Amino acid sequence: MDLAAVGTDVEKVIATEEQLAAKIAELAARVDADYKDKNVLLVGVLKGAIMAMADLTRAMQTHIEMDWMAVSSYGSGTKSSGVVRILKDLDRDITGRHVLIVEDIVDTGLTLSWLKSNLFSRGAASVEILAILRKPEAAKVEVDVKYVGFDIPKEFVVGYGLDFDEKYRNLSFIGVLAKHMYS
Ligand code: 5GP
Repeated sequence: MDLAAVGTDVEKVIATEEQLAAKIAELAARVDADYKDKNVLLVGVLKGAIMAMADLTRAMQTHIEMDWMAVSSYGSGTKSSGVVRILKDLDRDITGRHVLIVEDIVDTGLTLSWLKSNLFSRGAASVEILAILRKPEAAKVEVDVKYVGFDIPKEFVVGYGLDFDEKYRNLSFIGVLAKHMYS
């Protein structure tokens, strides 16, 4: 879906389809270089990371494996609850594996800091994070995100996997959801 199709639901574009593609290519090249011969396991966080995972892995030139987790930290609202619950766990044992978590956005950092230590405690050799977006002003906990697409202001964004009430995930760009949609 493009901007014209959502009309006034989106008040500002944060990253266009072209900017996203360029950033993904840049991140893929860095991940390729860093994980050469390491058989990296990419763990996508459902459902927000689907687009990033699909594009990132296809832009990479090394073999990878993919797995998925679903965790909940948000209801259908726009505020982080800080409560993390596993809705779908990994399909495999990650002992000794080099794991790269692929996430849509780091907001308060609560979800990722919990997820990172959870995966570490399972015996992974390394756990790093790639996030398409980060809101530095919203951070409540310090999380080391090795690969960041874009730093953005503290606003509620949708598109490229990110939803509001399960809608807007299929926008080809990322934009700020207009306030009148949720206030
Ligand atoms: P955190 O634990 O870092 O506060 O939140 C992480 C999760 O909250 C993200 O994976 C995402 O699902 C959701 N989230 C945080 N900020 C936004 C936002 O601006 N838009 C959308 N759609 N989801 C967000």
